[in-house]
Amino acid sequence: MAERHQVIIAGGGPVGVGMAVELGLRGIDCVVVGRHEEPHHLPKGQNLTQRTLEHFYFWGIVDQLRNARLMPMGYPIGGVTAYGNMMSEHWYAPKGREAVRNFYFEANDRLPQYQTEAVLRERLKDLPSVTTLFGWTVETVEQDANGVTVTIGETEEASRKGGQYEWAGFVEADEDTTRPGTVAGTKRVLEADYVVACDGARSTVRQQIGIDRGGSDFDQKMLLAVFRSKELHEAFERFPNGTTYRALHPDLKGYWMFFGRVDVGETWFFHAPVPLDTTAENYDFQGLLNRAAGFEFKADFDHVGFWDLRVAVADKYRVNRVFIAGDAAHSHPPYGGFGLNNGLEDIVNLGWKLAANLEGWGGDALLDSYSEERRPVFWETGEDFIARGIDRDAEFLARYSPDKDLEEFKTAWKELEEVGGRRTMTYEPNYPGSSVVMGPDGAVCSAHGSHTYEARPGHHLPPQELSSGRKMAAELGMGFTLLAFGADDAAVQSIESAAQLLKVPFKVIRDTQDGGREKYDAKLVLVRPDQYVVWSGDSAPDDATSVLKKVTGQV
Ligand SMILES: Cc1cc2nc3c(=O)[nH]c(=O)nc-3n(C[C@H](O)[C@H](O)[C@H](O)COP(=O)(O)OP(=O)(O)OC[C@H]3O[C@@H](n4cnc5c(N)ncnc54)[C@H](O)[C@@H]3O)c2cc1C
Repeated sequence: MAERHQVIIAGGGPVGVGMAVELGLRGIDCVVVGRHEEPHHLPKGQNLTQRTLEHFYFWGIVDQLRNARLMPMGYPIGGVTAYGNMMSEHWYAPKGREAVRNFYFEANDRLPQYQTEAVLRERLKDLPSVTTLFGWTVETVEQDANGVTVTIGETEEASRKGGQYEWAGFVEADEDTTRPGTVAGTKRVLEADYVVACDGARSTVRQQIGIDRGGSDFDQKMLLAVFRSKELHEAFERFPNGTTYRALHPDLKGYWMFFGRVDVGETWFFHAPVPLDTTAENYDFQGLLNRAAGFEFKADFDHVGFWDLRVAVADKYRVNRVFIAGDAAHSHPPYGGFGLNNGLEDIVNLGWKLAANLEGWGGDALLDSYSEERRPVFWETGEDFIARGIDRDAEFLARYSPDKDLEEFKTAWKELEEVGGRRTMTYEPNYPGSSVVMGPDGAVCSAHGSHTYEARPGHHLPPQELSSGRKMAAELGMGFTLLAFGADDAAVQSIESAAQLLKVPFKVIRDTQDGGREKYDAKLVLVRPDQYVVWSGDSAPDDATSVLKKVTGQV
């Protein structure tokens, strides 16, 4: 007989394991099937936003995550952009994510993805409803009205304990040569109510359920190198302390030559465009590093790999009982640190909706809203923030040069810096147009927004303290929370009764409307389990039951 679970998670990367944590904390019986027994030891996915650190807070592992960083505590995370190469006299070091720090209750952080994955995997040990099958590959997925059936096979890697790891990035050309196969005769069949596919950019599940992808393909091969050099560290002491160093060279059409610290002192990763026919053997990688750095130095290489520069976003994130999340849903170049951060937001968006549905208080419309909310956000992230950013840098480099007209160049260079700063402020994923949010008429779901302290339906709840001195986040419930600041009891009662009627897990937090809480600009704020506001007002809605029905998809 097949094993039955409520949810099968395909893929044991950070997004798959994060999904298991999110569901496990809600007591959902799930199994995570991951091809590799250990996280891939490549220092990618380092830049974690303030919002991502909020997820780790709610997962109960924010301190463990911070302790897993390789850089000294408090070491600045910011980056430098230079014209031509890193020894250029033209460079800037903007504020970066610090600009939005006050709109989140956790600070951002930076650590290699394998460290993050180790913290997430450790968390699973305390979650009894989660089963892990690392060293197993999802091979087939079939669904009908009653559930999903998944066939898995044990990998050769698992059976021989440690083989060659797959490069889990975006290279599609060599996928079949690096993927470990499965061992004959070790198949298992799993059944579940739902599948969440977090199986990376080349997602088997996405292909099997027939979801296409769209986006921008730059037809550009990129190098990813990991190396050690103390000399480079010393040379970069000319800049304020920071972690990323980006050279914009006029020959490179807006593609970056990019150094990122792995630790402070010696280890680096680097990416830059290379000719399409480049292999690990036929190219002078040290020469490319020298060119980006602006001087000759000696690098000891630990890794050389490649990826294709393209933005690919799935046409939809759900087909009946199967959902896709993380790189399976959206893959793109690591320009701006959007990949892992968005993948984790995907599963925080989806996790409570799946739990609500399985517990009987969330309708099918709630499950549909996952794709409705998350897909447009990533489409715009890919096109407007990543692809458009490359085009904008290319236009700048084609038009301005210090050799042609220094004064004109300096003015435009300053403007380029400011555009980058504005982008951080206006990147604010929001869902006021969602069918499970009480947003204004005509609103949409978008990556473009603004950071304010107002409690706006469809937007992340800005942080505030309670008069007890506790932060608001510490008091929010696992279900819906009604914040009531000087609101009258009858209003609170009417919303609470509606929640009881519809069996929605519900908590009320009462406090005064001052001490910063007045900035919410509403006496009543209804917050859903992923800390997004779904409704706000000064008095109860005319029909609280229909509001609760809508925001839980019980329509
Ligand atoms: C150089 C570089 C720098 C980056 N920097 C950042 C950054 O600063 N910030 C950021 O947010 N993002 C960054 N990213 C992106 C980030 O690394 C990815 O978005 C992230 O890995 C996505 O996680 P995932 O779990 O969705 O996919 P993956 O990490 O690809 O994990 C998918 C997992 O599923 C497994 N799998 C695949 N197929 C199957 C199957 N059939 N059955 C079972 N298991 C399967 C794979 O082996 C893998 O373990 C960077 C990426 C690169 C390459």
